[in-house]
Amino acid sequence: MRSLEDYRPIIGEESISPIKEKASDFSGKHILHINSAYQGGGVAEILSSLVPLMNSIGIDTEWRVIHATSDFFTITKKLHNALQGERINLSEINKNKYLENNKEFSTYTPIDHDYVIVHDPQPLPLIKFYNKKQPWIWRCHVDLVKPNPDIWGYLKNFVEKYDHAIVSKKEYVMKDLTMPQSIIHPAIDPLSPKNLPLSEKTIEKHLTKFDIDRKKPTISQISRFDKWKDPTGVIKIFEMVREKTDCQLVLVGSMAPDDPEAQKILAETKETAKKSKHSKDIKIIVAGKSRLPDNDVLVNAVQTASDVVIQKSLKEGFGLTISEALYKETAVVASNVGGIPLQVIDGVNGFLHEPKDLKAFSNSILRLLKDEKLRKEFGINGKKHVKENFLITRLLSNYLELFNNIANQKTAKAQIAEEKFKKI
Ligand code: UDP
Repeated sequence: MRSLEDYRPIIGEESISPIKEKASDFSGKHILHINSAYQGGGVAEILSSLVPLMNSIGIDTEWRVIHATSDFFTITKKLHNALQGERINLSEINKNKYLENNKEFSTYTPIDHDYVIVHDPQPLPLIKFYNKKQPWIWRCHVDLVKPNPDIWGYLKNFVEKYDHAIVSKKEYVMKDLTMPQSIIHPAIDPLSPKNLPLSEKTIEKHLTKFDIDRKKPTISQISRFDKWKDPTGVIKIFEMVREKTDCQLVLVGSMAPDDPEAQKILAETKETAKKSKHSKDIKIIVAGKSRLPDNDVLVNAVQTASDVVIQKSLKEGFGLTISEALYKETAVVASNVGGIPLQVIDGVNGFLHEPKDLKAFSNSILRLLKDEKLRKEFGINGKKHVKENFLITRLLSNYLELFNNIANQKTAKAQIAEEKFKKI
């Protein structure tokens, strides 16, 4: 298990000591994280590093995953889509199923922790089924720029029961919420098998296994098969690039157990690739279970070996895959949406374009493929930017600050209550 000390060579003593200091106030406290998937997607990725790290600094931290039927995940995927702006119909029956599943989960999940952190909409209503004795924090990871107003109105009823909400960037702060909100950017773990430097031999082994030609320029996108990640759009861009230069496209995607739409999107992606004039240069890899070592090393190898990583998302809460690629000194061409512009600085470590502008994407990719010096420059800038802003130790530090703020607010409230009591 990694400990905070292991990060010292990367972030230095000046970052380690303040974390230790802040952690000492919470030593022995019990924290509970609840989300909806143990693997697949960014939340599981973050928790798999954050939870052991919190434990390693003396904070007893647990991670529980909501148990549910496929019906439940069909409903919650709709809610996820609606939070990202899609119009959906949510029947009363489905609202009930959503609540019932949460209620049932609560019956075998006693909570006596000091802080509870609930991630995303799936377990959001859980709070309704507890006699709340501690601060509850709702951590929303999705792109909240323009949620569907009806669905937000419905979900807001649950959110308002929480003591605090966390969103990934300032544009996601919800103006109609009455409780405090924090902006915390997600982060990657530089010591996970997904991000540690790989030997050339390991890269070779993983890429040849999937028939990736090491001699050809490589463009890749690593993402769940999800409509918001627009894999068919990536293929269209690749076709434009491929018309001008010899290269290959690698699409790596895993199937998240809480995403019932993935199979459909995978089928569409395969169909688009099959119809392409350049189908032999398109490799679609359905990765194993995300967070298993083999998948992590494969993702690492593809991100490291790619000449350009593309992220053509239509919406993107944050997009860990961007920081992962930048940290490996790979240039990124990505959509100017959601959390992506926090990570890609246009013309400094990559290029940003409107998702619809396929021509701009293909021109930037071509420019980078032709210019090794520019790729190197972007790579160096990218790694520096991630090291300074998007590492898991900074995220850990933000959580400690948040617990501290919440604890102090509570003290302040308790003091006010006491004064009132005295006056009476
Ligand atoms: N990922 C993976 N295997 C895949 C596809 C994605 O391990 O085949 C990982 C990816 O490396 C990243 C996470 O899943 O760590 C996706 O997080 P991101 O924030 O980019 O997107 P999300 O899936 O949460 O929308």
